[in-house]
Amino acid sequence: MNYIVANLPDEYRIADEVELRRRIKVKKAELGDKLVILTHHYQRLEIVEFNDFLGDSYALAKSASQQKDAEHIVFCGVRFMAEAADILSDDDKKVYLANPTAGCPMADMAPTGLVYQSWDFIESVLGPDKVLPLSYMNSSAELKAFCGKNGGLICTSSNADAAFDYCFKQNRKLFFFPDQHLGRNTAKKKGIPKDKIALYDINKENGGLTAADIERADVILWSGYCHVHVNFNTEQIAAQRKEFADLKIVVHPECAEEVVDLADSVGSTSHIVNFVEQAPIGSTIAIGTELNLIHRLSVNHPDKKIMSLAGNMCVVCSNMFRTSLQDLCFTLENFDKAELVRVPEDISENAKIALERMLEVGR
Ligand code: SF4
Repeated sequence: MNYIVANLPDEYRIADEVELRRRIKVKKAELGDKLVILTHHYQRLEIVEFNDFLGDSYALAKSASQQKDAEHIVFCGVRFMAEAADILSDDDKKVYLANPTAGCPMADMAPTGLVYQSWDFIESVLGPDKVLPLSYMNSSAELKAFCGKNGGLICTSSNADAAFDYCFKQNRKLFFFPDQHLGRNTAKKKGIPKDKIALYDINKENGGLTAADIERADVILWSGYCHVHVNFNTEQIAAQRKEFADLKIVVHPECAEEVVDLADSVGSTSHIVNFVEQAPIGSTIAIGTELNLIHRLSVNHPDKKIMSLAGNMCVVCSNMFRTSLQDLCFTLENFDKAELVRVPEDISENAKIALERMLEVGR
């Protein structure tokens, strides 16, 4: 039986934080190099405390691919990240998602059947070998395999630029999914004019695009989005700039184009962390990303004023928030009962090709 939060044995559900922390420390010490805990920047503060490696999805994927001694890789993040860790790590490694219910609604916006259907339509217009599929890391293992099989690759928010270059160097148009905002912001940065960026609307037949739209486009974007990052808007920027004279604004590229345009800096979660670390003491910084990261940065930098660009709005990723000390403790104490993340070999093989291309193009 695989355990999820709702049915964790009582001893975990009733244990207090002090007890859970103690037991996690004991297990970590006992397992030593046989265990590695990979933790995403959006995890809760008390989970980040136990990381062996903390990073954005690019850095975590790379770390998974480099693990040599660890037998158990415990992922504190969401499912697509743990799947990538399983695909990239050696076969003798066992990967667990500390909370197996943690998914990503954006990844779910690109169901495989619909992506295959849209690809067939696009290829029926353009003919073969004219377009490359490029998937954001936030996608299912099946879609990663689809990219690998069709000459494409994966990118994260920290290397989307390099991945776009990879496709354009091959004189191909680019079909990017699932996040329209990262796609649009990157295309704009690459100097692609607006009329050469087409939006494939998943709620319309053939994405609402005509053959002429597809022929004209250099970049075709899937219409997915992150429900956390679309909460940031230009009114918030105007209000915060009015209130704080020397304000700096740094946002994630999953934010809408108009928000990115007005920010002082844009980049992945690692970029945001570096931006805050390097800002002079006394800086006032408003951040457009997930609230747990903003909170941790404010705790770690009491000499700077760090706040959410969205003010009091709840910009929490509930899936990232799902991983609790109970889940982590249970996973470490019960590898035989915790859910193993295993991507089937027929999918893993092609997905690995696409992920390795991502690591090859670098950041
Ligand atoms: S923050 Fe957005 S893109 Fe990231 S895991 Fe949560 S829903 Fe998915």
